[in-house]
Amino acid sequence: MHLAAIFPGAYMRYLYSFILLMAASAHAQGPGNIKQLLKNHDYTGTILAGRAYLQSNPNSAEVYRFMSKSFYQQKEYDSAAYFMEKSFAFDSVFSPRATTWYIAGILGGLRQLAEMHIQAGDTARGISELYTVLHIKPRNVTADSARALLAILGHDPDSVFQEPQQWEVVHGKHIDYYFEDTIGPHVFLSAFISRYEAAFDTLNAFFQAALSQKIRYYVYLDKSRAHKYIGDDESGNANAELYRIRTGFLGYYPAGHEIAHILVFYAWGSKPRYTDRFVNEGLAVAFDFDGDKDKMARATQELAGSKFHSVRKIWEQEDWLEKKIFYPVAGAFIQYLYQHGAILDFKQLVKWQTLEGAMNIYGKPDLKKLMNDFDKEVGLMKENPR
Ligand SMILES: [Zn+2]
Repeated sequence: MHLAAIFPGAYMRYLYSFILLMAASAHAQGPGNIKQLLKNHDYTGTILAGRAYLQSNPNSAEVYRFMSKSFYQQKEYDSAAYFMEKSFAFDSVFSPRATTWYIAGILGGLRQLAEMHIQAGDTARGISELYTVLHIKPRNVTADSARALLAILGHDPDSVFQEPQQWEVVHGKHIDYYFEDTIGPHVFLSAFISRYEAAFDTLNAFFQAALSQKIRYYVYLDKSRAHKYIGDDESGNANAELYRIRTGFLGYYPAGHEIAHILVFYAWGSKPRYTDRFVNEGLAVAFDFDGDKDKMARATQELAGSKFHSVRKIWEQEDWLEKKIFYPVAGAFIQYLYQHGAILDFKQLVKWQTLEGAMNIYGKPDLKKLMNDFDKEVGLMKENPR
Protein backbone atom coordinates (compact mmCIF):
# COMPACT_ATOMS: atom_id res chain seq x y z
CA MET A 1 0.00 0.00 0.00
CA HIS A 2 1.28 3.44 -0.81
CA LEU A 3 2.23 5.60 2.11
CA ALA A 4 0.05 8.52 1.00
CA ALA A 5 -2.98 6.25 0.90
CA ILE A 6 -2.59 5.44 4.58
CA PHE A 7 -2.07 8.92 5.93
CA PRO A 8 -2.19 11.55 3.22
CA GLY A 9 -1.90 14.47 5.63
CA ALA A 10 1.30 13.40 7.28
CA TYR A 11 2.76 12.26 4.01
CA MET A 12 2.17 15.58 2.31
CA ARG A 13 3.52 17.44 5.30
CA TYR A 14 6.78 15.52 5.27
CA LEU A 15 7.03 15.57 1.51
CA TYR A 16 6.81 19.33 1.71
CA SER A 17 9.39 19.47 4.49
CA PHE A 18 11.57 17.18 2.46
CA ILE A 19 11.50 19.54 -0.50
CA LEU A 20 12.44 22.39 1.83
CA LEU A 21 15.27 20.33 3.27
CA MET A 22 16.61 19.40 -0.13
CA ALA A 23 16.61 23.05 -1.04
CA ALA A 24 18.37 24.01 2.15
CA SER A 25 20.98 21.32 2.66
CA ALA A 26 24.15 21.21 0.67
CA HIS A 27 24.74 17.49 1.18
CA ALA A 28 22.63 14.60 2.40
CA GLN A 29 23.42 13.28 5.86
CA GLY A 30 24.44 9.68 6.46
CA PRO A 31 22.99 7.20 8.99
CA GLY A 32 25.53 8.28 11.60
CA ASN A 33 24.36 11.89 11.53
CA ILE A 34 20.72 10.86 11.42
CA LYS A 35 21.24 8.67 14.47
CA GLN A 36 22.78 11.67 16.22
CA LEU A 37 19.70 13.77 15.42
CA LEU A 38 17.54 11.07 16.96
CA LYS A 39 19.78 10.92 20.02
CA ASN A 40 19.39 14.69 20.37
CA HIS A 41 15.59 14.22 20.34
CA ASP A 42 15.37 16.19 17.10
CA TYR A 43 12.58 14.04 15.69
CA THR A 44 11.53 16.39 12.90
CA GLY A 45 15.16 16.68 11.85
CA THR A 46 15.56 12.89 11.94
CA ILE A 47 12.54 12.42 9.73
CA LEU A 48 13.63 15.05 7.24
CA ALA A 49 17.20 13.83 7.02
CA GLY A 50 16.06 10.22 6.98
CA ARG A 51 13.74 10.78 4.11
CA ALA A 52 16.44 12.55 2.17
CA TYR A 53 18.83 9.66 2.77
CA LEU A 54 16.28 7.04 1.78
CA GLN A 55 15.76 8.70 -1.57
CA SER A 56 19.12 7.40 -2.70
CA ASN A 57 19.39 4.48 -0.23
CA PRO A 58 15.92 2.96 -0.13
CA ASN A 59 17.09 -0.30 1.49
CA SER A 60 18.48 1.11 4.73
CA ALA A 61 16.75 -0.78 7.51
CA GLU A 62 18.64 1.31 10.03
CA VAL A 63 17.34 4.65 8.75
CA TYR A 64 13.77 3.33 8.47
CA ARG A 65 14.09 2.41 12.13
CA PHE A 66 15.33 5.89 13.10
CA MET A 67 12.34 7.38 11.34
CA SER A 68 9.97 4.97 13.00
CA LYS A 69 11.32 5.93 16.40
CA SER A 70 10.92 9.62 15.61
CA PHE A 71 7.32 9.14 14.52
CA TYR A 72 6.77 7.08 17.63
CA GLN A 73 8.08 9.90 19.82
CA GLN A 74 5.69 12.25 18.06
CA LYS A 75 2.87 9.77 18.78
CA GLU A 76 2.21 9.25 15.08
CA TYR A 77 1.81 5.52 15.52
CA ASP A 78 0.55 4.71 12.03
CA SER A 79 3.63 6.27 10.50
CA ALA A 80 5.84 4.71 13.14
CA ALA A 81 4.40 1.26 12.37
CA TYR A 82 4.78 1.81 8.65
CA PHE A 83 8.46 2.69 8.92
CA MET A 84 9.17 -0.07 11.42
CA GLU A 85 7.70 -2.56 8.98
CA LYS A 86 9.81 -1.07 6.22
CA SER A 87 12.79 -1.56 8.47
CA PHE A 88 11.97 -5.23 8.97
CA ALA A 89 11.41 -5.70 5.26
CA PHE A 90 15.03 -4.75 4.58
CA ASP A 91 16.45 -6.51 7.59
CA SER A 92 18.30 -9.78 7.54
CA VAL A 93 17.37 -10.59 11.12
CA PHE A 94 15.87 -13.97 10.35
CA SER A 95 19.08 -15.18 8.78
CA PRO A 96 21.16 -17.48 10.96
CA ARG A 97 24.02 -14.99 10.77
CA ALA A 98 22.12 -12.48 12.86
CA THR A 99 23.93 -11.76 16.08
CA THR A 100 22.39 -11.73 19.52
CA TRP A 101 22.57 -8.00 20.09
CA TYR A 102 21.00 -7.43 16.73
CA ILE A 103 18.09 -9.71 17.60
CA ALA A 104 17.70 -7.85 20.87
CA GLY A 105 17.39 -4.61 18.93
CA ILE A 106 14.82 -6.09 16.59
CA LEU A 107 12.87 -7.55 19.50
CA GLY A 108 12.68 -4.09 21.01
CA GLY A 109 11.44 -2.83 17.67
CA LEU A 110 8.86 -5.59 17.34
CA ARG A 111 7.65 -4.96 20.85
CA GLN A 112 7.35 -1.29 19.98
CA LEU A 113 5.60 -2.09 16.71
CA ALA A 114 3.07 -4.18 18.61
CA GLU A 115 2.31 -1.29 20.90
CA MET A 116 1.94 1.04 17.95
CA HIS A 117 -0.60 -1.24 16.31
CA ILE A 118 -2.53 -1.49 19.56
CA GLN A 119 -2.49 2.25 20.13
CA ALA A 120 -3.56 2.80 16.52
CA GLY A 121 -6.52 0.49 17.21
CA ASP A 122 -5.31 -2.68 15.47
CA THR A 123 -5.18 -4.95 18.52
CA ALA A 124 -5.13 -8.23 16.61
CA ARG A 125 -2.06 -7.15 14.69
CA GLY A 126 -0.39 -5.97 17.87
CA ILE A 127 -1.03 -9.31 19.56
CA SER A 128 0.43 -11.20 16.66
CA GLU A 129 3.60 -9.06 16.84
CA LEU A 130 3.88 -9.76 20.58
CA TYR A 131 3.75 -13.49 19.91
CA THR A 132 6.46 -13.03 17.28
CA VAL A 133 8.65 -11.52 20.00
CA LEU A 134 8.08 -14.57 22.22
CA HIS A 135 8.77 -16.97 19.37
CA ILE A 136 12.12 -15.36 18.58
CA LYS A 137 13.24 -15.16 22.20
CA PRO A 138 10.95 -16.46 24.92
CA ARG A 139 12.83 -15.04 27.88
CA ASN A 140 14.53 -11.68 28.19
CA VAL A 141 13.55 -8.18 29.21
CA THR A 142 11.67 -7.49 25.99
CA ALA A 143 9.91 -10.83 26.09
CA ASP A 144 8.83 -10.17 29.66
CA SER A 145 7.35 -6.86 28.66
CA ALA A 146 5.62 -8.46 25.66
CA ARG A 147 4.25 -11.12 28.01
CA ALA A 148 2.97 -8.47 30.41
CA LEU A 149 1.25 -6.59 27.60
CA LEU A 150 -0.36 -9.81 26.34
CA ALA A 151 -1.63 -10.55 29.82
CA ILE A 152 -3.23 -7.10 29.97
CA LEU A 153 -4.92 -7.88 26.67
CA GLY A 154 -6.34 -11.07 28.18
CA HIS A 155 -3.98 -13.50 26.47
CA ASP A 156 -2.08 -16.34 28.05
CA PRO A 157 1.37 -15.57 26.73
CA ASP A 158 2.64 -19.01 27.58
CA SER A 159 0.28 -20.76 25.24
CA VAL A 160 3.13 -20.45 22.73
CA PHE A 161 5.15 -22.90 24.80
CA GLN A 162 2.54 -25.61 24.73
CA GLU A 163 3.21 -26.83 21.25
CA PRO A 164 3.02 -30.60 21.54
CA GLN A 165 6.23 -31.24 19.59
CA GLN A 166 8.17 -29.51 22.37
CA TRP A 167 6.78 -31.41 25.30
CA GLU A 168 6.12 -34.87 26.59
CA VAL A 169 2.91 -34.34 28.52
CA VAL A 170 1.87 -36.59 31.39
CA HIS A 171 -1.58 -35.99 32.83
CA GLY A 172 -1.79 -36.30 36.59
CA LYS A 173 -4.91 -36.03 38.70
CA HIS A 174 -4.32 -32.38 39.71
CA ILE A 175 -1.37 -31.44 37.55
CA ASP A 176 -0.39 -31.80 33.90
CA TYR A 177 3.37 -32.34 33.64
CA TYR A 178 5.31 -30.99 30.69
CA PHE A 179 8.69 -32.58 30.14
CA GLU A 180 11.04 -31.53 27.38
CA ASP A 181 10.79 -33.89 24.47
CA THR A 182 14.47 -34.75 24.89
CA ILE A 183 13.83 -36.38 28.25
CA GLY A 184 13.50 -39.89 26.81
CA PRO A 185 12.47 -42.86 28.96
CA HIS A 186 13.03 -41.86 32.54
CA VAL A 187 12.79 -44.22 35.49
CA PHE A 188 12.13 -41.50 38.07
CA LEU A 189 9.18 -39.97 36.28
CA SER A 190 6.37 -41.87 37.96
CA ALA A 191 7.91 -41.37 41.42
CA PHE A 192 8.30 -37.68 40.65
CA ILE A 193 4.68 -37.35 39.59
CA SER A 194 3.21 -39.24 42.52
CA ARG A 195 5.29 -37.09 44.91
CA TYR A 196 3.72 -33.92 43.48
CA GLU A 197 0.21 -35.34 43.37
CA ALA A 198 0.59 -36.42 47.01
CA ALA A 199 1.85 -32.94 47.92
CA PHE A 200 -1.20 -31.40 46.27
CA ASP A 201 -3.62 -33.69 48.13
CA THR A 202 -1.92 -33.19 51.48
CA LEU A 203 -1.69 -29.41 51.19
CA ASN A 204 -5.13 -28.91 49.79
CA ALA A 205 -6.71 -30.81 52.67
CA PHE A 206 -5.84 -27.64 54.57
CA PHE A 207 -6.03 -24.88 51.95
CA GLN A 208 -9.29 -26.10 50.33
CA ALA A 209 -8.53 -24.32 47.07
CA ALA A 210 -11.05 -24.93 44.33
CA LEU A 211 -8.96 -24.50 41.18
CA SER A 212 -10.77 -23.73 37.95
CA GLN A 213 -8.17 -25.65 35.95
CA LYS A 214 -5.33 -28.10 36.41
CA ILE A 215 -1.86 -26.82 37.23
CA ARG A 216 0.61 -26.94 34.36
CA TYR A 217 4.00 -28.04 35.58
CA TYR A 218 6.97 -27.42 33.27
CA VAL A 219 10.24 -29.18 33.96
CA TYR A 220 13.35 -27.81 32.27
CA LEU A 221 16.22 -30.23 32.48
CA ASP A 222 18.28 -28.41 29.91
CA LYS A 223 20.44 -26.09 32.03
CA SER A 224 20.48 -23.13 29.67
CA ARG A 225 16.74 -23.39 29.10
CA ALA A 226 16.15 -23.59 32.84
CA HIS A 227 18.15 -20.39 33.27
CA LYS A 228 16.15 -18.76 30.53
CA TYR A 229 12.75 -19.61 32.00
CA ILE A 230 13.38 -19.77 35.69
CA GLY A 231 16.27 -17.37 36.29
CA ASP A 232 19.87 -17.79 37.28
CA ASP A 233 19.54 -18.20 40.99
CA GLU A 234 16.08 -19.67 41.37
CA SER A 235 15.20 -23.29 41.26
CA GLY A 236 11.51 -22.88 40.54
CA ASN A 237 8.67 -20.43 40.29
CA ALA A 238 4.91 -20.40 40.35
CA ASN A 239 2.35 -18.14 38.75
CA ALA A 240 -0.97 -18.71 40.47
CA GLU A 241 -3.00 -16.67 38.03
CA LEU A 242 -1.69 -18.74 35.12
CA TYR A 243 -1.86 -22.00 37.15
CA ARG A 244 1.74 -22.57 36.12
CA ILE A 245 4.80 -23.98 37.85
CA ARG A 246 8.30 -24.13 36.43
CA THR A 247 11.30 -25.94 37.84
CA GLY A 248 14.61 -27.10 36.53
CA PHE A 249 14.70 -30.29 38.54
CA LEU A 250 13.45 -33.82 38.69
CA GLY A 251 14.68 -34.34 42.23
CA TYR A 252 15.92 -32.58 45.38
CA TYR A 253 13.23 -29.93 45.20
CA PRO A 254 10.51 -29.79 47.85
CA ALA A 255 7.36 -30.89 46.03
CA GLY A 256 5.06 -28.66 48.04
CA HIS A 257 6.77 -25.29 47.64
CA GLU A 258 5.44 -24.11 44.29
CA ILE A 259 2.12 -25.94 44.75
CA ALA A 260 1.68 -24.08 48.04
CA HIS A 261 2.13 -20.77 46.21
CA ILE A 262 -0.80 -21.64 43.97
CA LEU A 263 -3.05 -23.14 46.66
CA VAL A 264 -2.44 -20.20 49.01
CA PHE A 265 -3.64 -17.87 46.28
CA TYR A 266 -6.96 -19.69 45.88
CA ALA A 267 -7.32 -20.97 49.44
CA TRP A 268 -10.81 -21.04 50.98
CA GLY A 269 -12.35 -19.51 47.90
CA SER A 270 -10.79 -16.05 47.93
CA LYS A 271 -7.63 -14.40 46.69
CA PRO A 272 -5.25 -12.72 49.16
CA ARG A 273 -6.19 -9.15 49.98
CA TYR A 274 -2.52 -8.27 50.44
CA THR A 275 0.55 -10.26 49.59
CA ASP A 276 3.84 -10.02 51.37
CA ARG A 277 7.03 -11.80 50.46
CA PHE A 278 7.81 -12.94 54.00
CA VAL A 279 4.41 -14.57 54.51
CA ASN A 280 4.12 -15.85 50.95
CA GLU A 281 7.53 -17.52 50.87
CA GLY A 282 7.16 -18.52 54.50
CA LEU A 283 3.96 -20.38 53.60
CA ALA A 284 5.65 -22.10 50.66
CA VAL A 285 8.53 -23.23 52.87
CA ALA A 286 6.30 -24.21 55.80
CA PHE A 287 4.10 -26.29 53.49
CA ASP A 288 6.83 -27.62 51.21
CA PHE A 289 5.70 -31.20 51.90
CA ASP A 290 9.07 -32.93 51.72
CA GLY A 291 11.64 -30.20 52.36
CA ASP A 292 13.51 -29.75 55.64
CA LYS A 293 11.90 -31.99 58.25
CA ASP A 294 12.81 -29.67 61.13
CA LYS A 295 12.26 -26.08 60.03
CA MET A 296 13.23 -24.68 63.44
CA ALA A 297 16.57 -26.51 63.41
CA ARG A 298 17.30 -25.25 59.89
CA ALA A 299 16.47 -21.65 60.83
CA THR A 300 18.59 -21.92 63.99
CA GLN A 301 21.49 -23.22 61.95
CA GLU A 302 21.29 -20.42 59.34
CA LEU A 303 20.90 -17.72 61.99
CA ALA A 304 23.88 -18.83 64.05
CA GLY A 305 26.44 -16.01 63.98
CA SER A 306 24.20 -13.75 61.89
CA LYS A 307 23.68 -10.07 62.67
CA PHE A 308 19.96 -10.50 63.32
CA HIS A 309 18.29 -10.14 66.68
CA SER A 310 14.63 -10.77 65.99
CA VAL A 311 12.30 -12.35 63.47
CA ARG A 312 10.44 -9.06 63.35
CA LYS A 313 13.52 -7.30 61.95
CA ILE A 314 13.90 -10.05 59.36
CA TRP A 315 10.26 -9.68 58.34
CA GLU A 316 10.68 -5.91 58.06
CA GLN A 317 13.87 -6.17 56.02
CA GLU A 318 12.63 -8.93 53.72
CA ASP A 319 13.35 -7.08 50.49
CA TRP A 320 17.11 -7.11 50.67
CA LEU A 321 17.71 -10.11 52.88
CA GLU A 322 19.89 -12.92 51.57
CA LYS A 323 17.91 -16.00 50.55
CA LYS A 324 20.00 -18.30 52.73
CA ILE A 325 18.50 -16.67 55.83
CA PHE A 326 15.23 -15.34 54.50
CA TYR A 327 13.63 -18.59 53.33
CA PRO A 328 14.40 -20.82 56.31
CA VAL A 329 13.44 -18.14 58.86
CA ALA A 330 10.23 -17.14 57.07
CA GLY A 331 9.29 -20.82 56.71
CA ALA A 332 10.07 -21.66 60.34
CA PHE A 333 8.18 -18.66 61.67
CA ILE A 334 5.09 -19.20 59.52
CA GLN A 335 5.07 -22.83 60.60
CA TYR A 336 5.46 -21.63 64.20
CA LEU A 337 2.40 -19.40 63.83
CA TYR A 338 0.50 -22.33 62.31
CA GLN A 339 1.41 -24.58 65.22
CA HIS A 340 1.23 -22.13 68.12
CA GLY A 341 -1.42 -19.58 67.13
CA ALA A 342 -5.12 -19.98 66.48
CA ILE A 343 -5.91 -21.64 63.14
CA LEU A 344 -8.62 -19.09 62.34
CA ASP A 345 -6.06 -16.31 62.81
CA PHE A 346 -3.60 -18.18 60.64
CA LYS A 347 -6.16 -18.49 57.83
CA GLN A 348 -6.72 -14.76 57.99
CA LEU A 349 -2.99 -14.12 57.81
CA VAL A 350 -2.83 -16.19 54.61
CA LYS A 351 -5.27 -13.73 53.04
CA TRP A 352 -3.93 -10.59 54.70
CA GLN A 353 -0.19 -11.04 54.48
CA THR A 354 1.34 -7.98 56.11
CA LEU A 355 3.06 -7.36 59.43
CA GLU A 356 0.41 -4.75 60.23
CA GLY A 357 -2.27 -7.26 59.24
CA ALA A 358 -0.71 -9.86 61.51
CA MET A 359 -0.75 -7.43 64.45
CA ASN A 360 -4.44 -6.80 63.94
CA ILE A 361 -5.28 -10.45 63.38
CA TYR A 362 -3.37 -11.90 66.33
CA GLY A 363 -3.51 -8.78 68.49
CA LYS A 364 -0.28 -6.90 69.18
CA PRO A 365 0.57 -8.48 72.56
CA ASP A 366 -0.08 -12.03 71.32
CA LEU A 367 1.93 -11.57 68.15
CA LYS A 368 4.74 -10.01 70.16
CA LYS A 369 4.76 -13.00 72.49
CA LEU A 370 4.75 -15.45 69.57
CA MET A 371 7.68 -13.58 68.04
CA ASN A 372 9.62 -13.43 71.28
CA ASP A 373 9.10 -17.13 71.93
CA PHE A 374 10.17 -17.93 68.39
CA ASP A 375 13.27 -15.74 68.71
CA LYS A 376 14.30 -17.64 71.83
CA GLU A 377 13.77 -21.02 70.19
CA VAL A 378 15.94 -20.20 67.19
CA GLY A 379 18.64 -18.61 69.33
CA LEU A 380 17.95 -14.95 68.58
CA MET A 381 18.41 -12.34 71.28
CA LYS A 382 16.61 -9.07 71.40
CA GLU A 383 18.95 -6.15 70.72
CA ASN A 384 17.59 -4.01 73.56
CA PRO A 385 15.84 -6.38 75.96
CA ARG A 386 13.21 -4.59 78.02
ZN1 LIG B 1 8.63 -19.48 46.57
